Amino acid sequence: MNFANLIAEHIQKLVPYMSARRIGGHGHTFLNANEAPKSETYIFNSTNLNRYPDCQPEELISAYADYCDLLPSEVLAARGSDEIIGLIMRTFIEQKREGVLIAPPTYGMYEVAANTNNVQVAYAKRNGDFSLTAYHFIEALKYVPFKVKAIFIDSPANPLGLTFPKDELITLLNELPDTLIVIDEAYVEYTDPAYDFTKLIREYENLIVTRTLSKAFALAGLRCGFALANPQIIKAMLKVIDPYPVPDPCVQIAKQALAKGGIELMQARVKETLERRATFEKALQELPMVDKIFKSEANFLLIKFKDGKAVFDALSQKGIILRSFEDKPGLRNCIRITIGSAEEMDEVMRTLTEMGEAS
Ligand code: PMP
Repeated sequence: MNFANLIAEHIQKLVPYMSARRIGGHGHTFLNANEAPKSETYIFNSTNLNRYPDCQPEELISAYADYCDLLPSEVLAARGSDEIIGLIMRTFIEQKREGVLIAPPTYGMYEVAANTNNVQVAYAKRNGDFSLTAYHFIEALKYVPFKVKAIFIDSPANPLGLTFPKDELITLLNELPDTLIVIDEAYVEYTDPAYDFTKLIREYENLIVTRTLSKAFALAGLRCGFALANPQIIKAMLKVIDPYPVPDPCVQIAKQALAKGGIELMQARVKETLERRATFEKALQELPMVDKIFKSEANFLLIKFKDGKAVFDALSQKGIILRSFEDKPGLRNCIRITIGSAEEMDEVMRTLTEMGEAS
């Protein structure tokens, strides 16, 4: 038997998404997945674990709708925003014939989810400083040999840290009314509230906003993400979603995180993270080994070092695991560092300073 022939042709060629956890690395300080430095304490009861949960648990949907000031019919919940990205591919895009448009460097799952679902991928080119406008996408569409059904934009972007301007988004939504514009707001809580684009779903039927509890809410282990869109879009995605996408313990924990006290904790966490990012950035500016620090609107910094590999290896030897973007176009010598606890950031700075002194 030729085992390879059992695997679908497009999966044979697939390069899976290499999450920070899958890449692994031996260490004690993990600053490679943009996670919050610590978890809060939650309680849950197991009385209903013998029962299947609702497909879209009402209390969870209402809690997130309240958080965003939207209606429950405009919200869909799933296992992280990663699942939502795949759901968009499966619901809206014809396999092989149609595709998506992305602007690298961007979040890697858009391309992997497209490849997994046998959906085509086209690329828009950014400005030299990595900024992006509606024009970059509209221009790219002129040369794409298949129908682009969705454009994926992360704002704030990963790993670049920059936001997509609202006026550019509106131009895109107006110019391309038959294309879904997916704005991935995984890091939105870390930026100016003016970059919360959720309210635009009322005006634009082609807009989907994706959200997560993994970052500012410090619940990456919970796997809980949301799509926010016009009810027609939500209904279409609900045709495709798995029968029980949100486990009951997740619902109970997410509800606590989205209650008034949970939101206040999140806001305090964001404030602290932003202060720590500013302190860390200032200290980095003093280091001769640093070439450039990208302006960040999120809980991480992307840094171009003079010798990125040397920095990555030196920190990794000390048990500090970062994320290298060395192999991504335009990001040679670039490393993304999550803003962790004060102790973790001190440890990074100490190691970098020692490294500088030794050279
Ligand atoms: N979007 C972006 C831009 C991300 O950086 C990440 C996490 N790495 C995700 C989505 C996935 O988040 P979730 O944990 O909700 O699947």
